[in-house]
Amino acid sequence: MPASISYEFFPPRSIEASFRLWETVTALQHTQPEFVSVTYGAGGTTRKLTHEAVEAIGKHTGLNVAAHLTCVDASRSETLEIADRYAEAGVSHLVALRGDPPKGSAGFTPRADGFASSVDLIEALAGTGKFELTVGAYPEKHPEATDARANVDWLKRKIDAGATRAITQFFFDADCFFRFRDDCAAAGIDAPILPGILPIQSWSGVKRFAAQCGATIPNHLANAFETAERDGRTELLATAVATQLCTKLLEGGVEHLHFYTLNDPTLTRDVVHALGLAPEPALENVA
Ligand SMILES: Cc1cc2nc3c(=O)[nH]c(=O)nc-3n(C[C@H](O)[C@H](O)[C@H](O)COP(=O)(O)OP(=O)(O)OC[C@H]3O[C@@H](n4cnc5c(N)ncnc54)[C@H](O)[C@@H]3O)c2cc1C
Repeated sequence: MPASISYEFFPPRSIEASFRLWETVTALQHTQPEFVSVTYGAGGTTRKLTHEAVEAIGKHTGLNVAAHLTCVDASRSETLEIADRYAEAGVSHLVALRGDPPKGSAGFTPRADGFASSVDLIEALAGTGKFELTVGAYPEKHPEATDARANVDWLKRKIDAGATRAITQFFFDADCFFRFRDDCAAAGIDAPILPGILPIQSWSGVKRFAAQCGATIPNHLANAFETAERDGRTELLATAVATQLCTKLLEGGVEHLHFYTLNDPTLTRDVVHALGLAPEPALENVA
């Protein structure tokens, strides 16, 4: 049985970005993802755009679309109302996260009338009985975790609260994922944990993201990208790096890969093709 795949997109904030999202969705559609998901801007800043993107992708492609939902800077009733609107629109899969605070703020501060944590949010969403709930997971120490073990204990609480699947933050070392998967299994977590794969589209962008979320960049990758950048060959290297990581994961028993597309289909499509995970094209379509 070949591994299944899924993709993450973000909601567009301009007409040009809408075209880019649409090109990404249509370029990846033929690979038959099990589901795709649309993020929710930091600080809850894309409520309407996320909803519109989720609806439009579902309506025009027939793909299973999950909506990310966070509880930053919103009351419990506002958050549950957003969830209800998804249920009314036929969207039954939510990626439920505490969420990142708006850029420039000091950190997550729960509102008196809001959800106190991701666990609190997941319990309430599960209580509605309307949703399949996926959550975030962290193979490396999350910046707010006391240590890496805390991520495992907290994920267990999120699964016990009603989530049935987790998607990890990106990472570059397959062994790091395997250690986390083993620790989760030992802690009694039996929900599937999908590795989140970030094909490296921009080396400077990845260094920035990694510093923010606590992901480790191995030294050999830093050296390789710096040389490849000088020679204008980063795309080739990025495809090889992501393909190799995915190959190790698949060899280690992973059955699903989740790709962070950043609304650019090229690298993700090439990696999925290189892994042989896209359905074979019909013979008449082969040039
Ligand atoms: C797959 C995925 C999708 C994402 N999509 C979005 C998105 O659409 N929009 C967005 O804004 N952000 C998104 N993020 C980023 C995410 O919001 C941040 O990483 C945020 O800081 C944590 O959210 P969470 O629900 O995963 O956190 P949690 O799992 O609640 O917390 C992260 C870690 O912090 C520690 N922790 C947090 N609270 C407690 C507590 N009360 N007690 C003990 N330990 C605690 C635990 O170690 C935990 O593992 C995504 C992340 C992932 C992995």
